[in-house]
Amino acid sequence: MRAFVYSAQPSRVVFGVGALDQLGAEIERLGAKRALVLSTPEQADAAQELAQRLGSRAAGVYDKAIMHVPIETAEAARALARDLDADCCVAVGGGSTIGLGKAIALTSSLPILAIPTTFAGSEMTPIYGITAQGEKKTGRDARVLPKTVIYDPRLLLTLPAKIAGPSGMNAIAHCAEALYAQDANPIASLMAEEGIRTLAASLPVVVKEPDNLEAKSDALYGAWLAGTCLGQVGMALHHKLCHTLGGSFNLPHAETHTVVLPHALQYNRDCAAEAMQRISRALGGGDPASGLYDLARAIGAPVALKDIGMAREGLERAARLATQNPYYNPRAIEREGILALLTAAWNGERPGHRATRAVA
Ligand code: NAD
Repeated sequence: MRAFVYSAQPSRVVFGVGALDQLGAEIERLGAKRALVLSTPEQADAAQELAQRLGSRAAGVYDKAIMHVPIETAEAARALARDLDADCCVAVGGGSTIGLGKAIALTSSLPILAIPTTFAGSEMTPIYGITAQGEKKTGRDARVLPKTVIYDPRLLLTLPAKIAGPSGMNAIAHCAEALYAQDANPIASLMAEEGIRTLAASLPVVVKEPDNLEAKSDALYGAWLAGTCLGQVGMALHHKLCHTLGGSFNLPHAETHTVVLPHALQYNRDCAAEAMQRISRALGGGDPASGLYDLARAIGAPVALKDIGMAREGLERAARLATQNPYYNPRAIEREGILALLTAAWNGERPGHRATRAVA
């Protein structure tokens, strides 16, 4: 057994079909009396419904959350929280809405009650991101970790297949990189392997049968495991590449993760044998990189950067940016190799053409 350090994140999780019925009791548990409810414009109805459920414990609704938390949106929501004298934020939505709650908590220390409706996992992490002057800066701060998380699969019944599929692949990416993290630990690795197994089994059903509550419950459980991994251990090459592509080329978050993941695993495969074995086992055997590529195709998610808004001419710059600041990865990060990886991802090639080592 390798030496390790383990520190759990202090958050309370209430999971299950109908868990949202606990909202009032959970707000009371936090001692909050004036909750500010947050959502994107697309989920404004869900936010209004929650405010109604909360009755006099709702101070107001801010429904203008957008992806990557522009500083202007953060400032507007912070000002509203101050004006309303809010004592807690209820964030209902995906990573964008929870990210806005984090931006408020960062400067006010207001507790967050998160109600995730995608598989992104932000609710389980103390990581925040704010975009100013075209650059997204991320950081870790204990104040932004939601105090309570309510996972109710019923809220995912409205999640369209084209958002659900990539979002699930985004969660698988957290698990995959947790398995070869520099600070990997046995508990996070258990969660990671189980997360991949649960998501890989449930996502094909999630996208084919949008009303299948059992499949959405399983995927949400996998997403919780994945988010926990993301909050606990450091990520590597894959997340760095996606951060670069999202931040500097404005590519969509979950779709970028979906496209890049098989290629990042292919790059690392010979330098992270145990992680690859576990990913393979979770997928039911076979090569992890091509297995995840096939999963993406099976669920109708994109597999090529060229199909999600990346210009061919941007690849050189992306490779340069991604290799500029050295960071941990099981395999050394070399510009040429990264450019080849990005080119294969841009074309949408299926990885694993060369002879594969048995990993099952
Ligand atoms: P998102 O929050 O932007 O949601 C995508 C769209 O789906 C939005 O329009 C949203 O309103 C809609 N939607 C979400 N749930 C729905 C539902 N159940 N029914 C109908 N529509 C629904 O997307 P995301 O992928 O969840 O989050 C992406 C953002 O989160 C990125 O900015 C990313 O950087 C961030 N993120 C942060 C962390 C972290 O730890 N800080 C982790 C993961 C993602």
